[in-house]
Amino acid sequence: MPPWSVSDIKIVLASGNRHKYEEYTDFFASLAYASGERVYLLNSGDFDLAPSDIEESGSSYEENAAIKARAYARFLGLPAIADDSGLEVRVLGWRPGIYSSRAASGGDGDRISWLLGQMDGKNDRRARFRVSLVMAFPGSRGGARDYFSSEGVCWGNISRDPSGEDGFGYDPVFVPDGHQKSFAELGRAIKREISHRAIAMRGVAILLPHVVKYFLAYCG
Ligand code: IMP
Repeated sequence: MPPWSVSDIKIVLASGNRHKYEEYTDFFASLAYASGERVYLLNSGDFDLAPSDIEESGSSYEENAAIKARAYARFLGLPAIADDSGLEVRVLGWRPGIYSSRAASGGDGDRISWLLGQMDGKNDRRARFRVSLVMAFPGSRGGARDYFSSEGVCWGNISRDPSGEDGFGYDPVFVPDGHQKSFAELGRAIKREISHRAIAMRGVAILLPHVVKYFLAYCG
């Protein structure tokens, strides 16, 4: 038996990032629509095939997220959501931004070392995570604004040393406002409430079932 029911709204998350999938699944599972709809999130990593023409060549989070969401929606014939996100650090002129996953080669640990190296001796630790979340549809004709988007920002400070095991990316050095611990120490439950991704998701959640039904009925 598949884990969804026929009446569920099925959306594919266009991302290879397992942590992002967990964050979105947590969030959608916590939504209760008065009309009884449930959103079931499929993981694009569970499909054997993926569109081959995805190049994150945009100059903004939104452009990159739209490239990914549109490509998956067209390829799989399902509504798709994708996000593009990054860490912006004030003392670094708000870098690395859209280049956060490529700021240094290697893994997350290497990029954290790069960041702490760049901020060595700097007292200004102010930073924010930013995300653009885009939902696109299979019937999209590639028009200029054929998708929905929502933004999220989460402010905090970069710690002097990494701490915690949870999460991904720069979580071990990001201490969100109102907390004394890093996202990696605070864990999934807190991140689900206050993260940039949580804020962007709230923006689309209310409209989601209606938007998906409309597009499937009229644009599919
Ligand atoms: P992308 O959105 O998959 O292109 O990746 C953005 C990069 O920004 C990630 O690889 C992380 O380095 C960083 N990033 C974005 N969101 C988060 C987060 O919630 N926690 C930690 N790092 C993040």
